[in-house]
Amino acid sequence: MTKKMKTAKRVHQYNTAFQCPICQSAMEVIDPKSFVCSKNHTFDFAKQGYINMLTHQVTSPYGKELFEARQRIITNSSLYTMLHDTIAHVINQQPCTSAASLMVADLGCGEGSHLQAILDKCMQPKVTGVGIDISKEGIIMAAKKHDTPTWLVADLAKSPLADKACSFILNILSPANYREFKRILSPGGLVIKVVPGPNYLRELREMLSQKTKHHNTETVDLFKRHFDLLEVIRVQDTRELHQTAIVDLVRMTPLTWTSNQAQIKQFYRQDAAAITIDLEILIGTNASTRNYIGGKA
Ligand SMILES: [Zn+2]
Repeated sequence: MTKKMKTAKRVHQYNTAFQCPICQSAMEVIDPKSFVCSKNHTFDFAKQGYINMLTHQVTSPYGKELFEARQRIITNSSLYTMLHDTIAHVINQQPCTSAASLMVADLGCGEGSHLQAILDKCMQPKVTGVGIDISKEGIIMAAKKHDTPTWLVADLAKSPLADKACSFILNILSPANYREFKRILSPGGLVIKVVPGPNYLRELREMLSQKTKHHNTETVDLFKRHFDLLEVIRVQDTRELHQTAIVDLVRMTPLTWTSNQAQIKQFYRQDAAAITIDLEILIGTNASTRNYIGGKA
């Protein structure tokens, strides 16, 4: 079976989780080639196994090189292992109350490595993953590497997910659209948003002499205006990266793009460097339900 057919078959099983991004009506898989709404808006399954559900052309600032670097760092280094373990633990702790599948949607998934790594650690039965990003480059890379989550190119402001379709919304180091997150979150579902902590990639910032630290007060306040904040989990870890990984890390980090290239070259010359991960995981729900079991391991 081709990748395209596998995706069409899987999407057919969960087609009620989707809606047309143009007219919001229900979607159906027609002969395993197209995903079509009741008003005939048609989106084709690509041969790499993803669906492009964008309704307009978008130019993303993130190119192939950035996504390749990001994929190698997330998959091959252990830099984000604690983050993946912690989020998977939060998902695994939740009582599975419904007979239906639990949809884990990563919104702003880039090249998909965070979502795949988290799903690999999920022990919940009936978990199904969906990764959405506005960048076609990112989604093609995700679909080429990972078969099972459903990969969609789409705009988070007009998400192709149906009302209340998601048990878990992941939003990792990526902009949010809370109005849409609220619409697609199931009653009692969790929004899991990851933001940088004060020491995130501290060594890179020090190299670039950036004194400003991340402060998340505004981000947390905004989150609280939309969701019931249940818990904030801080993940801190320091790992040693060897030279090729250091180069990848610099490539995937936007703060280096406009920086002093001489400083960056010097950073590249290190055989190895300790790199600090400091992330805050905000866990929220729609105010109606409170059967949350804490996520701290
Ligand atoms: Zn439509």
